[in-house]
Amino acid sequence: MRIIVQKFGGTSVATPEGREAVVRRVRQALDDGYATVVVVSAMGRQGDPYATDTLIQLAQSAGPDLAPREMDLLLSCGEIISSVLMAATLTAAGIPAVALTGGQAGIQTDENYGNAQIVKVDPAPVLSRLKEGLVVVVAGFQGVNAAGEVTTLGRGGSDTTAAALGGALRAEVVEIYTDVDGVKTADPRLVAEARTLSVTTYDEIAQMAHYGAKVVHPRAVEIAMQHRVPIRVRSTFSDNPGTLITYSAEAGVIWSEPFSDRVVTAVTHVVGLAQVVVKTGRDWATPRLFRRLANAGISVDLISVSMESSAFSIPESRAAQAEMILTELGLVDLQVRHGCAKVTVVGSGMRGRPGVMATVAEALYAAEVPIWQTADSHVTISCLIPAADVQRAVQALHDAFELGRI
Ligand code: ADP
Ligand code: ASP
Ligand code: MG
Repeated sequence: MRIIVQKFGGTSVATPEGREAVVRRVRQALDDGYATVVVVSAMGRQGDPYATDTLIQLAQSAGPDLAPREMDLLLSCGEIISSVLMAATLTAAGIPAVALTGGQAGIQTDENYGNAQIVKVDPAPVLSRLKEGLVVVVAGFQGVNAAGEVTTLGRGGSDTTAAALGGALRAEVVEIYTDVDGVKTADPRLVAEARTLSVTTYDEIAQMAHYGAKVVHPRAVEIAMQHRVPIRVRSTFSDNPGTLITYSAEAGVIWSEPFSDRVVTAVTHVVGLAQVVVKTGRDWATPRLFRRLANAGISVDLISVSMESSAFSIPESRAAQAEMILTELGLVDLQVRHGCAKVTVVGSGMRGRPGVMATVAEALYAAEVPIWQTADSHVTISCLIPAADVQRAVQALHDAFELGRI
């Protein structure tokens, strides 16, 4: 049986026109001879009745202390509603379909409510329905833990559901349908002339996703990479072939077109960060402060440690808590800078190439964007900047590396 997994994001399933477009995509896959699994997100964006953000607001209105278990139970409903509606729409269009929750579809996770990891996928429940000739519509973003409790996979987690099912079912391809033409050289909301990448590696896209390109979830890319299932990211609403994510030429895959020889492939950004700079001075302070932050579940980034001080960034939403933890440790000489963003240039071609940081610094200087801190890996350079400057910074870097040009 040739299997395809097609995942449709919130905007694709939000309207009757969107759902009709989904029906067309599914019909095409069936005509092409695929047994078809559809994964859906909750319908729409903030303000729409069953969107994830709306459900989060609803939960908050019930009081500040909703238990993580109850929160996940509530959030999972958005995708369940969507799956039932989509299965009904397909069936009404003459394509017999069945809706399954993540748990019913065999997705088992760890205990970590709100950001659970998939530990196993039992392919049997989906396979048996496919064999009956049904299209299986799976509610994304959820699974069940060992105790049978419903968990959710973290924001954007329907992509992860699709990749995990693709791996377990040995699908030929996982198609991620969204509201843009594919993975682009920058977020098209910030850079109008951002170009769609036609083919790229798992590694490069995983880096981009990790550094803020929310068009596909980093964990989805990693799972697809482990199972060697190609992903195609494309628009529900256009015929553009989108972006094929797969192995690099070195891994022995033959390409229909060459990889780009660019130094930088894309510019990504993350907003909603705060920077903490704390004078440490004493040798016990550095390990203890990072341990306390970790125990509180605060993830730190852009870390720079010296004998005298430490600087790092954290989510803005955790800044007050972090400040309290540091003060309790007696580290009172500290500065918290709110309203930060991180811009990153990503490219596997930058390995060992001189001049990338020079171009980044020149571009941001010319755009009058201050650099508050930097961090780098062999394929990324990130700069912490004022959030108010993020659009100017992303545009400036996109121009400097000529990413809008073919
Ligand atoms: P879905 O609901 O379909 O999962 P998301 O909102 O999660 O959609 O992701 C699609 C959005 O990701 C786009 O509307 C776009 O603004 C944003 N985005 C950010 N960076 C990129 C990028 N590099 N390429 C494409 N889209 C991006
Ligand atoms: N509905 C979930 C979210 O908004 C999962 C997803 O869309 O992938 O994060
Ligand atoms: Mg998404």
